[in-house]
Amino acid sequence: MEEEKKTTIFPKGDQLSSEWFTGEAFLFPLVTKDKNNEFSAGAVTFEMGARTNWHTHPRGQVLIVIEGSGFYQEKGKSARAIKKGDVVNIPENVEHWHGASAKTSMTHIAITNFEEDTQVTWLKPVTDEEFNEVTNQK
Ligand code: MN
Repeated sequence: MEEEKKTTIFPKGDQLSSEWFTGEAFLFPLVTKDKNNEFSAGAVTFEMGARTNWHTHPRGQVLIVIEGSGFYQEKGKSARAIKKGDVVNIPENVEHWHGASAKTSMTHIAITNFEEDTQVTWLKPVTDEEFNEVTNQK
């Protein structure tokens, strides 16, 4: 059986804080906010089982999945399974999380707009119960 091919476009970067992420997640920054760009962009890698806390973005966010598969879920809605090549356009001020599945890792580019100096408001962790309910649907 052919081994699953892994393309690594960017380095994994530095591990993200357990204050806002569950499990092992990493960020490799690509673009920082400057006089022309009212956003930042970075490649975020979630190892199996890793995910963001629930959170909102004041001006929305775009995710482009470049490796693996995982989930995107808005509060009160069914989770959306996402995989390499998928694009998620997240509206402003909508509570949501994104991350890997229980059995796969996932890397997405995140393009996140700023409102003044704020691009995210972090909320509670996605509990194991919430996460398992999603990953066991699929
Ligand atoms: Mn987000």
